[in-house]
Amino acid sequence: MFDTASKAFFHLLAGSTPLKKLASRYGMRRSTSFARRFIAGETPDEAINAARAVEARRMLITLDHLGESLTSLTQADSATREYVDIIDAVVGAGIGRNVSLKLTQLGLDVDRACCMDNLRRVLDKAEANGFFIRVDMEGSAYTGVTLDIFETIWGLGYRDIGVVLQAALYRTEGDLARMLRLGARVRLVKGAYEEPKTIAHQKKHDVDEAYSQLMKTLLASGNYPAFATHDPSMHALGLRLATELGIGRDKYEFQLLYGIRRDLQKSLVDNGSNVRIYIPFGREWFPYFMRRLGERPANVRSIVASIVDEKAARR
Ligand SMILES: Cc1cc2nc3c(=O)[nH]c(=O)nc-3n(C[C@H](O)[C@H](O)[C@H](O)COP(=O)(O)OP(=O)(O)OC[C@H]3O[C@@H](n4cnc5c(N)ncnc54)[C@H](O)[C@@H]3O)c2cc1C
Repeated sequence: MFDTASKAFFHLLAGSTPLKKLASRYGMRRSTSFARRFIAGETPDEAINAARAVEARRMLITLDHLGESLTSLTQADSATREYVDIIDAVVGAGIGRNVSLKLTQLGLDVDRACCMDNLRRVLDKAEANGFFIRVDMEGSAYTGVTLDIFETIWGLGYRDIGVVLQAALYRTEGDLARMLRLGARVRLVKGAYEEPKTIAHQKKHDVDEAYSQLMKTLLASGNYPAFATHDPSMHALGLRLATELGIGRDKYEFQLLYGIRRDLQKSLVDNGSNVRIYIPFGREWFPYFMRRLGERPANVRSIVASIVDEKAARR
C-alpha cells in the first residue's frame, strides 16, 4: 500500500491537524526520531551543526528555515526577522553563505507588496554579507507571481538571488527562456507538488523527458545552473552533456536534499562535481516532511518502524 499511495494522498494528510500534532510529538524528540532523517533539527544551532558535518564531507550547503503559507503580516514579519537573524548566525558560524526561502513564508498569501518589502529586507542583509538567496518554487498557483516578483527584484539591481523552475509544468520552457534573458541563476527540479494534467506532466517518463530538455538548455546557455535531483540517470545525463559541450564542472552544480541518497551525494563529490545539500530546519517541518513521503511512499514503512521503536523505548 505504501509503495502505491499517491502524492495527492500525502498532500491531503499534510493538511491534517491531528496528524501534525501526533507527528510533532514524536518526530524530533530524540536524535534518532523519524523526522530527523530529512530535517536537521528545530533550531539554527542544530542546522549549523548539520551544515558543518555536510561541509566536512566536501559539499556545499543551503539552509532552509521551514515555514510556508503564513496567513498574517505579523507572522510574515517574524519569519523575515528570523531569516535576518539566521544570516547573522551563519556569518558567526563561518559556514557557507547560502539560504533558500519561500515567498509564502514572507507573506505572499496576505499582501504582495509586503512580501516584496520583506524579501528586500532579507536581500539587503544578505547582500551586505555576501550571501546567495534562492527563492524556492511552490505550487502552480504561485508560479506566475513568484517569477514576477523575482523579475521586479532583479530590475531593482539585486543579483545574488536565484529562482527555481519545475520540469513537470508545461509552462516551464517559456519561463526558462524568460529567466535566461535576465541572466538569472536557475535551480531545475522535477516538481514536488500535485498538479492537474491540464498544466503538468503526470507520468515520470514525461517529467524526465522535460527535465532532460531543460537541462540541455541550461547547460548550453545558463548562468551556473543547479540540477536538483536524486535521479542518477539525470546526473549521468548532466555529466555527459557537460563533457560534450566542453563545460567544466565548476560551471554548474548538483543539489540534493539533506538525508536523501547520501550514497549519490558522495559519489558525485568523489568524481569532482560541485554538490550542494539543501538543509531544512525549524519547528514547521510537517508539510516539508509530508512532501518527502509523497515522493517515495516506501519511506513510510521505515517511519512506522521507528515510531514503534520509540514507543517501546518509552514503556
Ligand atoms: C535541492 C533541492 C531543492 C528543491 N527545491 C524544490 C522547489 O523549490 N520546488 C519544488 O517544487 N521542488 C523542489 N525540490 C523537490 C523536487 O521537485 C522533487 O520533488 C524531488 O527532488 C524528487 O524528485 P527527484 O528529482 O529526486 O526524482 P525522482 O524521479 O522522484 O526520484 C529519483 C530517485 O531519487 C530517490 N528519491 C527521490 N525522492 C526521495 C525521497 N523523498 N526519499 C528517498 N528517496 C528519494 C529515489 O531513489 C528515486 O528513485 C527540490 C529538490 C532538491 C533536491
